[in-house]
Amino acid sequence: MPQEKLPFTREQIAEIAKTHPTPFHIYDEQGIIENLDRFQKAFSWADFKEYYAVKAAPNPYLMKLLQKKNVGFDCSSLAELELSERVGSVGEEIMFTSNDTPAGEFKRAAELGAIINFDDISHLDYYENTVGKLPDLVCFRYNPGELKSGNDIIGNPTDAKYGFTREQLFEGFAACRDKGITRFGLHTMVASNELDEQYFVETARLLFEVIGELTESLGITFEFVNLGGGIGIPYTPEERPVNLETVGEGIRKEYETLITGKGLSPLKIYMECGRMITGPYGYLVTKVRHIKNTYKTFVGVDATMANLMRPGMYEAYHHITVLGKETAEATEVYDVAGSLCENNDKFALDRKLPPIERGDFLAIHDAGAHGHAMGFNYNGKLRSAELLLRSDGSVVHIRRAETLNDLFATLDFTSISEFK
Ligand SMILES: *Cc1c(COP(=O)(O)O)cnc(C)c1O
Repeated sequence: MPQEKLPFTREQIAEIAKTHPTPFHIYDEQGIIENLDRFQKAFSWADFKEYYAVKAAPNPYLMKLLQKKNVGFDCSSLAELELSERVGSVGEEIMFTSNDTPAGEFKRAAELGAIINFDDISHLDYYENTVGKLPDLVCFRYNPGELKSGNDIIGNPTDAKYGFTREQLFEGFAACRDKGITRFGLHTMVASNELDEQYFVETARLLFEVIGELTESLGITFEFVNLGGGIGIPYTPEERPVNLETVGEGIRKEYETLITGKGLSPLKIYMECGRMITGPYGYLVTKVRHIKNTYKTFVGVDATMANLMRPGMYEAYHHITVLGKETAEATEVYDVAGSLCENNDKFALDRKLPPIERGDFLAIHDAGAHGHAMGFNYNGKLRSAELLLRSDGSVVHIRRAETLNDLFATLDFTSISEFK
C-alpha cells in the first residue's frame, strides 16, 4: 500500500508553493528515518551495514541524513563518488559497484579508499595496468546465472551484463590470494523492486553456500557478503510492503546454518538498497493547469515525465492523491498528463479520482527513488527543485530548480549571428 497518510496537508503545500513554485519533489525525513531504523533493527543480530545506492536520489542533503545513521554509499560512477566525498564519506564507507568501468573511475575510487567491487575478471588486469597494485580488499560481483531466476525488472541473470560466473569467482579469488591479498568480500545483485521476502533469503543462502565452497577450496577468509539492493516497495494499493523482519530472520537462519554452523569466520552483512530507503518518502507535487474534455478527460499538470519517468517509460503505477480531497469519493476517471510532445507523458491512465479543478495540487507518491534522479531535459523541460520536510515540520530547499540558463549553459551564442 503506498504511504496512505501523507506527511503534509494541502494548506502546507499551498504555503510552500508560494516560495517554491510547483512542480517539486519533497522528501519526508521522518518517514526515511523510521523506515531505516526498522531495517537496521531487522538485522541487529548481525554486523550489518547498509550502503545506500546513491543513484536512487543523488542529493547530498539526503545523503547527510543517511550518513548520520551509519549508512555508507554504494556508488557506480564518478559523480556518485564525488558526492560521497563531498558529504564526508570516504574509505570503506563507499562501495564502488560499477560495470564497464573506465580506468579513471577505478583510480578515483582507489584514491578515496573505497571498497572496490569488481564486475569482471578481466578488470583485475585492467586495474593493475591502469591504476596499479590491486587493493588490499577485493570484492567480486557474482552472477549466479541459471542458479537463480531473475525478476521482472533486472531480468534473467544469464542475460545480465553484470558479474562473474561461478568458475570465474574461484579463478579470480585464487589469483588475488596468490598475489598476497587477504581481505575478501562477495556481492550479488539479482533483483529489483522485489516484494517476495523469500527471494532475499534464497539469495543470501546462495551466497553463503558459495562462500563456504570458496573458503574450503581456496583457503581464504571472507570478511563480508553484500546481498545487493532490490527490496521493492508497494506502488499499487494492492501490494504490501516487504516484511523486513521476515527477511532479517530468514537470513539469520541461513547464516546460522551455513556460516556459524559450519565453523566459518563471522561475516559482516552488507546491503545496498536504494528504492526502499527513499522511494516511499518522496513525492512529486504538481499543480493542475488544465482540464481537457475530448474522447477522454485529461488533467493537465505542470510536471512532466521529465520529472518522473517511470509511469511514461514503463506504465508504472504511481499512486496519486488530490490534496485537500483525501477523503472525497473517486467518482471521476482521468488521464493525468504533462506537457511533453510525447503521448506517453502521462502519470496515470484511466485513474479513478475525486473531481479535480484547475489549481488543485496533486501529490504523486513513491517518487523518492529513481524519480528526480532519472529526470531529463527533452523538449527543454527543466528539472524541478527538491525540498526536504524536516522532522520538526520545517522545509529546506535541498536543490533549486533548473533555469533556462542552466539548460543553455553548454551553448555558446556569442558567435551565432556570424555563423553562416
Ligand atoms: C541500482 C542498484 C542498487 C539499488 O537497487 P534498488 O532496487 O534501488 O534497491 C544496488 N546495487 C547496485 C549494484 C545497483 O545497480
